[in-house]
Amino acid sequence: MGFSEEEPRRLRGGQSRCPYCGLLQDRVATLEQDWVLLEPDMSPLAHTVPAEHRWIELSDGRVAVYGVCPPDPYQRCRVEHRLACSAQPLPDLWPWLTSLRGENARRAEREAGSEPPRFPEQWPDAG
Ligand SMILES: [Zn+2]
Repeated sequence: MGFSEEEPRRLRGGQSRCPYCGLLQDRVATLEQDWVLLEPDMSPLAHTVPAEHRWIELSDGRVAVYGVCPPDPYQRCRVEHRLACSAQPLPDLWPWLTSLRGENARRAEREAGSEPPRFPEQWPDAG
């Protein structure tokens, strides 16, 4: 599968095809004099996207990571195509949840090794 160059090359941004899935992605300049490939026609509310993956458009057309916390409830953002690409593995979007899962896996292993699993007795009375 080769990289298709049918889109005209543009100096300032434009679109290119994803080499993994073949779909179009927006090539947008960032504040750091770099480029980022964003999912086209997609502007979710910023608070629904993990903080370090929110890109907001600035007045000059460039984009920057939107690190405001807590985010403005009406702020829209862009996401990188690689997060939406069906042909690429999803990066770790919630690292703290991933470490919590790892910690819980070790805890479950320890508890399973020390005593047989049983119904949790600290549950509140449901009646
Ligand atoms: Zn893709």
